[in-house]
Amino acid sequence: MIAYFPTAYPDELLYSQLARFYTKSGYMTYTFAAEELFASKTVRPDMDFINSYTSAAVQAITRNMPMEAVIEKHTMFPCYGRFLPKERRQKAFQSLVSMKGNYHNLLPISQSKNGKVRCLRYCPACTANDRDQYGEAYWHRIHQLIGIHVCPVHRCYLMDSSVMITGKATPSFKTAEEMIPQAESCILADNEIEIRVAVYMAEVFRADVDMNSSITVGEFLHSKMAYTKYRSVRGEQRNIALFHADFTEYYRGLPRNWFTELWQIQKVLTNDRMNFFEICLMAMFLDITSDELVHMELPEKTQQQLFDEEVYRLHEQGLKYPAIAKALSAPYVIVKAIGEQRYGTYHKPTKSSLKSGMKPQNWNQIDENTLPLVKEAIRQLQGDGTTRPKKVTAFAVEKILYFSSKKISLYLPKCLAEIQRHKESQEQYWARKVAWAARQVEDRGVTLTWRKVRDLTNMRRRDFEACLPYISDYADSELVEQIIHLL
Ligand SMILES: [Zn+2]
Repeated sequence: MIAYFPTAYPDELLYSQLARFYTKSGYMTYTFAAEELFASKTVRPDMDFINSYTSAAVQAITRNMPMEAVIEKHTMFPCYGRFLPKERRQKAFQSLVSMKGNYHNLLPISQSKNGKVRCLRYCPACTANDRDQYGEAYWHRIHQLIGIHVCPVHRCYLMDSSVMITGKATPSFKTAEEMIPQAESCILADNEIEIRVAVYMAEVFRADVDMNSSITVGEFLHSKMAYTKYRSVRGEQRNIALFHADFTEYYRGLPRNWFTELWQIQKVLTNDRMNFFEICLMAMFLDITSDELVHMELPEKTQQQLFDEEVYRLHEQGLKYPAIAKALSAPYVIVKAIGEQRYGTYHKPTKSSLKSGMKPQNWNQIDENTLPLVKEAIRQLQGDGTTRPKKVTAFAVEKILYFSSKKISLYLPKCLAEIQRHKESQEQYWARKVAWAARQVEDRGVTLTWRKVRDLTNMRRRDFEACLPYISDYADSELVEQIIHLL
């Protein structure tokens, strides 16, 4: 029977509340308390999340609020769960509410980096405050966010306690009141970017988690790059190298920042990385308010649609395509193609119009008209020096031009021939990618290493070795010399 159970303080970890329960209930040993609370008494108390509790413990924990609110307000779920894709987010939440252990597989919980033990942290000023206001200290969730080093309220550095979160310490309950020294002075942070990151992360963390949103964070961040120099005029291309350069410059003064590589940024945009800290850094850099980030919305119309509509509007007003191209600072061929409705997402030819009705000479004309677009697309795929090269295939070209698949190979022989002229073997394509990466590294003025090439290309060592015989087709002899000796 659990007679007395303390009420949770604002932003208190559930673990902290249980620890306070333990010290105030007068158990002879930890084991007695563990038996009362945990379904398995040998389990290690989870400090970030929950354990499987006895029904008596569940009753006590949920006396003032339902388990759903406990998970949202007193565990680290808003950090690890918030930016997961909808289905996984809901599954993880449900498994926490029903106290199933599989939430560990559903949440992107990073293992401690380079074997460093994570400890419960605290802010000396918050502690003094809590002792004043509540008569005791407690463990705050916000101080445990990975990537935060400054108290967002007091702007002083957080301190490590001796309570280990990771690691193999004997299971126990340690209250903040016992573990944090009585008088401890604050060390004020004076690093502006570090403080801003902490305040931003805390705002995002505190907001309610939208459990039903089906917008992915990658899509959202991409949409927020619209009309910046990180997207092309029409918005269909991302200039990720420029984004990376500006981003790393912006956060240059941020200490202990592991999120500095181009491939990491790319993985956030493709929803392959969902780290809370990394997403907050990208959003803050893009001037997205914390409020916008927790209520993600996509624009009703994409940048491409709006661009195309603008072309139509100007054309109806009587402007000629060269003038429109100039007004919109876009390439003439593209503007003309859009105006003639040969290029676009929502006015592509329907399947039936492809199958029937069209006379062969029409296709010849279309083939002829499309050829410059195909050449442009091939050039894009090969990379303009800043964007990463992609493999030239009919499929990739069709994707850029928003053509239905196989349209080129079935109907446009001249275009197809142009693509085949640029066809490469896998090894040749790798060689082109490596040469591009090496030039990128050179441009930054840093030493060329295999690691840097690997990070930019995501290539395996084996593939790198396989492409070496072709390198000389894509780089000058001086660069070839350097690349060959990288391993
Ligand atoms: Zn504080």
